[in-house]
Formats: sequence, structure tokens, C-alpha cells
Amino acid sequence: MSCIFCKIANGEIKTSPVYEDDDVMAFDDLKPQAPVHVLVIPKEHIESMGQLSARHKEIAAKLMLAIPSIAEKKKVGQAGYRLVVNSGKDAGQEVMHLHVHMLAGRKFQWPPG
Ligand code: AMP
Ligand code: ZN
Repeated sequence: MSCIFCKIANGEIKTSPVYEDDDVMAFDDLKPQAPVHVLVIPKEHIESMGQLSARHKEIAAKLMLAIPSIAEKKKVGQAGYRLVVNSGKDAGQEVMHLHVHMLAGRKFQWPPG
């Protein structure tokens, strides 16, 4: 398996997790687009939103539920943050392992580019 996020999830590539439980991991993005830029991933390899199904109900819930505590840990819970899931080609998904970007620490534009 050559998936880079699987390698991070299974410890083959070392990172300092911002959050970790049995099913979910969060770590700082390599090329941050904001002062705080965390990626939240399921440890299981799920390619994209299109591959998410009812089977992943618990994992999907844990993924979302991890976010408020990550925000608190990064001290951005009050100021706010943006969550982004790039899914597929038009959205510009580069790493084909589902991930939620958590961006914070600056103002964001709407609509997004
Ligand atoms: P996306 O375009 O939504 O697929 O985003 C992929 C993100 O993964 C980008 O923001 C990259 O900077 C980030 N990324 C790629 N490789 C790594 C890595 N080894 N560690 C942390 N972040 C990474
Ligand atoms: Zn993977």
C-alpha cells in the first residue's frame, strides 16, 4: 500500500499527532495554508467522500467529533475555523485518502476559490 496517509496512520511515517484514537488521527499539514492547518483522517483507507458508506458510520462520527477538541487544543475554538473536504478531481483532491482540512488563525473568503 503506497498511500501516504495510511503510512502516517500505521506509524510507518512518523508524525506528532494532534489527536489520535483507535479510528482517527490528526496531524499538521506539511504545507500549511493558514497559521493552523490540521488534517483529520480515518485510519482506515477510505479514498474519498464517494467511498464513504453506512458501514463507516462510527468512524465518520468519530472523525467529526474529534474536531472540537482539536480546535480547543489548537486554541482556535472561540475564534473559529474552516473545515474543507476536497473530494475528487474538480475539488483538487491530491491525496486519495479521505481527510478533513481544519484551517484557522486567519480570516477566510467566501465563496472559496
Ligand atoms: P488535498 O488536496 O485535499 O488532497 O490535500 C492534501 C493535503 O495533504 C495537502 O494540504 C498537503 O500539503 C498535505 N500533505 C501531503 N503529504 C503530507 C504529509 N506527508 N504530511 C502532512 N501533510 C501532507
Ligand atoms: Zn490510505
